[in-house]
Amino acid sequence: MTKTEQVTPEGSESEHAIASRPDRAEKARDDMTPYEAATYFFHKSADRLELRDEMREVLGSTYRELAVQIPVRMDDGNIAVFRGYRIQHNGARGPYKGGIRYHESADLDEVRALAALMTWKNALIDVPFGGAKGGVQCDPRALSSAELERLTRRFTSMISYIIGVHRDIPAPDMGTNAQTMAWMIDAFGQKNGYTPGIVTGKPVELGGSQGREEATGRGVVMCTLEAAKRKDLQFEGARIAVQGFGNVGYWTAALASEQGASIVAVSDVGGGTYNRNGLDISKVFASLEDAESVTEFGDGDSVSNEELLELECDILIPAAIQGVIDGDNADEIKAPMVVEAANGPITPIADELLLERGLTIVPDILANTGGVTVSYFEWVQNIQEFRWEQKDVNAELQKRMSKATAEVFARSDKDTTSLREAAFDIAVSRVARADELRGYV
Ligand code: GLU
Repeated sequence: MTKTEQVTPEGSESEHAIASRPDRAEKARDDMTPYEAATYFFHKSADRLELRDEMREVLGSTYRELAVQIPVRMDDGNIAVFRGYRIQHNGARGPYKGGIRYHESADLDEVRALAALMTWKNALIDVPFGGAKGGVQCDPRALSSAELERLTRRFTSMISYIIGVHRDIPAPDMGTNAQTMAWMIDAFGQKNGYTPGIVTGKPVELGGSQGREEATGRGVVMCTLEAAKRKDLQFEGARIAVQGFGNVGYWTAALASEQGASIVAVSDVGGGTYNRNGLDISKVFASLEDAESVTEFGDGDSVSNEELLELECDILIPAAIQGVIDGDNADEIKAPMVVEAANGPITPIADELLLERGLTIVPDILANTGGVTVSYFEWVQNIQEFRWEQKDVNAELQKRMSKATAEVFARSDKDTTSLREAAFDIAVSRVARADELRGYV
């Protein structure tokens, strides 16, 4: 159904809400940039917390932005020039921390937005880090492994002036992985000596942590279990649709199904696969050995990424990119609970529309903090030169996810705010307090 068809008969109960939607949809079509969307939630929180103007100015902008030119010799002998960024948003609570994204959309605005989200995420899960993010605007799938290695090494040496074990610690994000971190360690180490704590999300053989690879997905599942319990939603047997089958989407689907949920759909950039009786996630994963996309999976019907979001299910988990639920499709979302495994998958307009309809939204800055939390454990292990066992990593992660989830639900009950508002209010006040104690603002 298109927006213009959604006209309610005059005098109906929801006349006001529905009648106002085309306007809002218009605004959504105007498209806030990722940074505008991230700052929108911050400013709303600053209003509720009555932050002073100076504090609002400090927390509403970034501390340092480095943009670099990355010339890379391609396999064909030509040189291609890429653009890279490392942006530090706020460092009041500790060294800057956040991933490096390789994606075509990773421009200054997007990386800024993601850096700010890292500040709030790290404060909410209470790891002693500030927020940062990096990005290289490229399509990593179009580059060979040797090209990716040259790009990573060059980028690392260009940002080496502002990163450091106690200054700023990168990690993987979309389009990067443990191998990327291995190249970063090596490039950084050539100049600075053995420095495993310079990045997290490394291969275990190079000082990475047990459990880091699946940590974001594991955290998403821990948080979803806790949220479901509080909303009287039976997790065992719950039908879950996961958009995305990268590191976060795959592990979320695999671990949720291990916990008894029924994963009815997963997707990748090519589209999705749907089976109302539940997919065998290990089989979907194995099918990718000979297939380009999960859409080719034999035991499911193919669906588009847009259709996946609108499926009948109990829990929807967007685990791919930002802005996939917007003013145009918010009214079509059927799951009563949406868990943001991706960063910023719901636009501010869609957030309002979903809340108006009574959906529960578990926000990104809570739901996807498992990755950075285990990054913290990895960093601690590197500094102490002491390795943890996987069971210790999982137990510590569980402790922190449960605590943060309980705090967000409690704050939301106390202040009658949404979970996102509660999460922002907790995070923003922690960062503001740290800046205040430092005498920075
Ligand atoms: N890129 C991940 C995130 O967005 C992890 C960041 C980290 O481990 O530093 O949370």
